[in-house]
Amino acid sequence: MQITAAFVREKNGPFTLEPLELDPPSEGEILVRIAACGICRADLSVRDQYYPTPLPVVLGHEGAGVVEAVGKGVKTVSV
Ligand SMILES: [Zn+2]
Repeated sequence: MQITAAFVREKNGPFTLEPLELDPPSEGEILVRIAACGICRADLSVRDQYYPTPLPVVLGHEGAGVVEAVGKGVKTVSV
């Protein structure tokens, strides 16, 4: 499925919203339709490479949303 993700492509660069192809959830994973997402200091530290991370990178780890699918073996979360 195609999603929109917040990419950073270079050190100190801008966040850009771009399409990304996302695989269905694998074993032990869930798929969450994100309703809102924050960008926090950790994201900025990765963007600015205070936490060295290969670029490009998709950031924004503080999302909230609704579970749409669960992978094989997931037992504690449901759609
Ligand atoms: Zn955070």
